[in-house]
Amino acid sequence: KTKEFEEKFKSKVGAQAALALNSCTAGLHLAMVLHKIGPEDEVITTPMTFCATANVIEHQGGNVVLADVDPETLLINPIEIEKKISKKTKVILPVHYAGHPCDMDTINRMAKKHGVAVVEDAAHCMPSKIGDKWVGSGSNLALFSFYANKNMTTGEGGMMTGPQALVDEARVLALHGMSH
Ligand SMILES: *Cc1c(COP(=O)(O)O)cnc(C)c1O
Repeated sequence: KTKEFEEKFKSKVGAQAALALNSCTAGLHLAMVLHKIGPEDEVITTPMTFCATANVIEHQGGNVVLADVDPETLLINPIEIEKKISKKTKVILPVHYAGHPCDMDTINRMAKKHGVAVVEDAAHCMPSKIGDKWVGSGSNLALFSFYANKNMTTGEGGMMTGPQALVDEARVLALHGMSH
């Protein structure tokens, strides 16, 4: 059932790869591990979110840096992100708040310019599109939640989408280092 769910989710959003997990929090945590967040590193995220988004940064010993939201959309404001980018910034972690996707073109461009990764907290964001592209179809890791109060639920659960190599690495980490 889980394999079938991964395949259907992957083809629905047009993701390169999909990994089903026990929660979105587990996926966000794995994303921090994959991007090697540690004590010297800063991750820029939004204050308008569930605490899991910030907690996973601290689980890895990283430093949470908050960039304020646009008061109209409640989405992280790229202008505020740019003000917070430092030499220690390793990841930008926007949240697609209440199913409304962030300005990913601007955020991705900014991340590329500064050489930092982007991880998308898409816990509220199944289903959602930016133009004709589904959230979760791009080259960033994106994490979805199927917790009881989310748009689409399995009671508890999460999904990671993203590039094949990173998702393959996450699959091994999610199974205590075992590959089969
Ligand atoms: C619910 C939520 C999470 C955590 O999802 P779980 O599947 O419960 O771990 C993470 N981020 C946001 C924005 C959420 O709303």
